This record gives sequence, C-alpha cells and structure tokens, in this order.
Amino acid sequence: MPSLTFYGGANEIGGNKILLEDGDTRLFFDFGTSFARRYRYFEEYLKPRPITGLLDPLEMGLLPPLRGIYRPDMEPTSDLWPRFSSSPLYRELSIDGVLLSHAHLDHSGYISFLRDDIPIYATAMTATIAKAIQDSGKGDFEKEVCYAIPKEETDGILQAAHWQKVSARQRPFHVLDLPPPTSQALAFWEATPGARGLQVCPWEEVCRIGSLHLKHFPVDHSIFGAAAFAVETSSGWVIYTGDLRRHGWKGHLVEEFATAASHLKPVALICEGTNIAGSRAASEEEVYTGALKAVAGAKALVIADFGPRNVERLLTFRQVAEQTNRRLVISARDAYLLRAMRYVSQEVPDPASDEVIAIYENA
Ligand SMILES: [Zn+2]
Repeated sequence: MPSLTFYGGANEIGGNKILLEDGDTRLFFDFGTSFARRYRYFEEYLKPRPITGLLDPLEMGLLPPLRGIYRPDMEPTSDLWPRFSSSPLYRELSIDGVLLSHAHLDHSGYISFLRDDIPIYATAMTATIAKAIQDSGKGDFEKEVCYAIPKEETDGILQAAHWQKVSARQRPFHVLDLPPPTSQALAFWEATPGARGLQVCPWEEVCRIGSLHLKHFPVDHSIFGAAAFAVETSSGWVIYTGDLRRHGWKGHLVEEFATAASHLKPVALICEGTNIAGSRAASEEEVYTGALKAVAGAKALVIADFGPRNVERLLTFRQVAEQTNRRLVISARDAYLLRAMRYVSQEVPDPASDEVIAIYENA
C-alpha cells in the first residue's frame, strides 16, 4: 500500500518535501527551502550557521529528522542524531531519488543537505537553471543544489575543504527530456564553476524511479523547465503538479497536462494551490499590453522590476523595449542565466549577440 508523508508544503507556500513510499521504493516530490519557517528565526544576514552544518536546520525544524538521507560531511559532531531521536518525526530512511519539479528554491533549495549520491530527476532546463543559479551565487551552503562542496570538521566546526585539494561533487541528475541535449548544454553542465575542480556526473536518461514507472509533463510556471510528475504505484497513478498557472504564454501546457493526467485515472492528485481561491491573475499578454503603453508614454529611463528568474517576464520587457526603440539592460547574473538557458532552448535569446539586450557593468 503506497503512502504519502508531507514534511513540507502543506499549509505553506513552497517548502515542498513530500515522501512517497511504495514497496521498496521511496522518493521525494521536491525538497525545497521552507521560507516561512526559515523567516521565524532568520532573515537577511542572520542565517543558519554553515559551521554547524545540519544542526541549525534540524534544530529549527527546517529539515525533517530523517537519519540516512543527509550528507555525512554536514554532521558537525557524532552526537547529532541522538538529539533528535525522541522527535515524533524521527526515523531512519534511505531514498531512491528526488523528483524536482522546477528550479525555484522553495522546491529545490534543501536538496543542498541531501547525500550527494541521491539521484535528482528533472528536465534539462530545470537542471541547467539550477546550475546557473548555483554557479553565479555566493557559495551559500543552503544552495548546493547541483554540486556539493565537501565540508571538513575540525574541533566540531565545519568548513569547506581546501579548494585546491578537494573537488566539488556533482549530484547525479537524471534528465527526463533526453534526448537530445545539445553538446553546449552538456558542456555547460560539466564545466567547472570556479577555481575548485568539479567531479562531474553526466546526465542520464530515465523513465523509472526505483521499481516505479514515471512520466513527466511540461507545465506553465514563472520559471522555464517546470514539470508535473506521474508515478505508477501498486495502487495506481499518483500525480504531483509542482507549481503551475494558466496565465502565462504557455498556459495551454496545463490544459494538455490535465487531459493526459485524467487519462491515467490517478488515485491521488497533489496540487499546488497558493492562489486557488484568489482573484484572476493578469495574463502575460495583458502585462505586455499594459507595459508597452506605459513605456511608450515615458520620456526618460524606465526601470522594470520582476522576479529574478522570471525569464518569460524578462522576454516580455525585451519585446516592449524592441517596440519602443529602447534597449533592455540586464545584470551579468541574468546574462549568465540566459546564455545557459539558450543551450537548452532557442526560445531564449543569446545576450551576447541580441541587439535589444545590453549588459549592465558596474564601473
Ligand atoms: Zn515556483
């Protein structure tokens, strides 16, 4: 009899960590950072302490006390687990993988703490975006989604191992929409992100997880590469939508997913519902029309503010800039992200050659 346990994602926005167990197979739907719980204790510069590894996230309830799934190099002391063994959530566990629906950190972030040999199942675009985010980040220990920087303990204090001596360890990503990745996409995946070496783990193609059959469906969301999943358990199909919406340019994908999912006659549907009872969101087309009118009437500099990974919105403003004979100036981090994404999808412009896009340089 399959079972589902919600360690995060119920009655909160994101933070999804949903365990599906069936026979010998155990997997998580997403393993995200719970920002609401995190903000109870931390904000801005006040962060979990990297020198204590798993201790702060476990103590503050940001990670469930599941012994066996986390990185041994993140255990600050040998007496870490006895602290949590009387917790009602404590158990020993091994898992076959994480189905990662998309690269927003509230769905992906706490993969950082998982053992680096646990497979991650995602689309090529999600894997690429996650790597671009980590590559261009500041080496935060809560954001080691694609590759783990090994930690070493001295007198109970954890620190990153010396960069000249120890390579980063890439997580095994099983890419759902292979083939065919471009050679550039593969080269980007295997590229060393910095001075530290990278122990590369190439992409693998997959259609099963453990003993269970797996399907994925592209869906519309405010980040490229988002997918819903269907897993065939011993009692029937279990569907997990991840985050989705219908008001983007690719809203039709959600209709197609819903039709395909209904044909599977699922026994369970796990659906995100952040705005399920809210008012209708503006469509991306309405955003474009409104922004075009506003920008066309503006005489000086226009500043557009939107989510940092919302490339669809960035492309909307690129179109507005083109229509109004302006240039869209983006940050170097955005340029890095766009270039990586272009290796997977030609829909995304190459920031180096696109005539409408310019890259802001801080002089
Ligand atoms: Zn999301």
